[in-house]
Amino acid sequence: MSIFDQMAVHDHEQVIALQNNATGLRGFLAIHDTTLGPALGGVRIWPYASEADALTDALRLSRAMTYKASLAELPCGGGKTALILHPGLKRTEAFEALGCLIESLNGRYFTARDVGITDDDLAALARTTRCVAREPSLELGDVSEHTAIGVWHGLRACLEILGIKQPRVAIQGVGSVGMWLATILHREGMELIVADINPDRAAQAGRELGARVVSPDEILTTPCDVLAPCALGGVVTSENAAAIRARIVCGSANNILASPEAADALAARGILYAPDYLVNAGGLIRGAEFYLLHRADSQPSLARIYDRMLRVARLARDRNVSPARIADELAESRLKRPKFFHDLTWRSP
Ligand code: NAD
Repeated sequence: MSIFDQMAVHDHEQVIALQNNATGLRGFLAIHDTTLGPALGGVRIWPYASEADALTDALRLSRAMTYKASLAELPCGGGKTALILHPGLKRTEAFEALGCLIESLNGRYFTARDVGITDDDLAALARTTRCVAREPSLELGDVSEHTAIGVWHGLRACLEILGIKQPRVAIQGVGSVGMWLATILHREGMELIVADINPDRAAQAGRELGARVVSPDEILTTPCDVLAPCALGGVVTSENAAAIRARIVCGSANNILASPEAADALAARGILYAPDYLVNAGGLIRGAEFYLLHRADSQPSLARIYDRMLRVARLARDRNVSPARIADELAESRLKRPKFFHDLTWRSP
């Protein structure tokens, strides 16, 4: 498929191919939709096997950001940058070059940390653009903690809907968000089961939070009330949905479902699925409120994830469809279609 055809599938506004001989910068910056406000979305760097893979990632992830922002009722849209990690990359200079380019967009795109990004990369970006979230920052707070608090609010709604009081929660991946989530759930007196491909992280959760550690191969099929994927995307497929022994799937990972059909397979088994971009929006909510709305505290907005999850779960139950489909419908309802360029955002920072 041509780039235009790929962009047309989900009506992406803009794709910028990033190329710079002097620094080895290569990748794609995708802006999916700015109907609701400037595009927000991190930059990730990965040894993509091909240009096509990097483009696909930028298109897919930027669209997910639009949906996340829309459902969270934020005044922003979705974007993402996918950079190709390769031996010829002069990393510092490449990030400075990327920052110049982001700055030239005059506030249409605002970026942050994503997979593979270091503090040095963020510092290089910040030297050449104002449109980057710098972490750690006392005023902004810990973005991963905000994400975990949002997941907790979503999970509270799921537990209430199913009337579960003392859940056993299996967490796949106790990294930044997973460990925060485990800490919150431990504080709430819940029984924890954890797995991580990094044995030190799993052992830490065992030692500090009394979690039972199982192997990464076991975690998806471990008997529990809640399965919380907090590692990778694509972990629930139409095939393995039959083997999941939880009543709720609710975690922070982006793109938990490998396909829309995986959501249907969970719904057919009576497993309540918390749409990932609904419950993992806490970090985006914090970033958008801090940088765009200049709010000191985002806790009230994070708590609204609970109400949103209740609403989505009830609509799904009434209409006998997956919550994933309801979330998509609600997110799309805030975006004007068809999209004309006078609807789009061109605000300067
Ligand atoms: P992280 O890299 O800090 O943590 C991921 C953890 O998962 C690591 O400890 C890693 O060892 C572990 N892991 C990887 N593969 C695994 C496997 N197969 N089985 C078990 N453990 C495995 O990342 P993070 O920032 O905590 O993000 C976790 C997920 O949440 C990602 O999908 C991310 O896209 C998503 N997310 C994060 C944020 C945020 O604020 N950090 C916001 C929204 C969504």
